[in-house]
Amino acid sequence: MKTLVKKKKIDKTLHNFIVLECCNFVRNSCVGVSSTGMFNNTGICVVIGEEPKHCDYFKDCVIPTSKHRMCYNEILNKYSDVDNTIKRVKIRTCQCGSKLDKGERLCSLCKKTKRKLSFRKINVKRKR
Ligand SMILES: [Zn+2]
Repeated sequence: MKTLVKKKKIDKTLHNFIVLECCNFVRNSCVGVSSTGMFNNTGICVVIGEEPKHCDYFKDCVIPTSKHRMCYNEILNKYSDVDNTIKRVKIRTCQCGSKLDKGERLCSLCKKTKRKLSFRKINVKRKR
């Protein structure tokens, strides 16, 4: 029997994110190799180390994968605490509290609700 691997919503801490997505994070330590060579030979992940520091590999190669988990902004903001070259992004939320995509004013659910309501208003007018 096959076991289904679901894309779980992850608890968006940097630690969890690194464990899940960083190719260099193996058995609780950092392999430290990127396409350009060795960038970390300490074996310790600097981002979630005791004194968190920036990591170019994490910034360039790992953070972008958070887009697939719909947590790019959250991860970026958490990482900005460690790397001061990263600007925090404002996370916009809908009136219902759910996260909004770029350019959206309401989430898809609220949009639907609003559309229904305005249709209803029009119908009420028509009946009169
Ligand atoms: Zn909403």
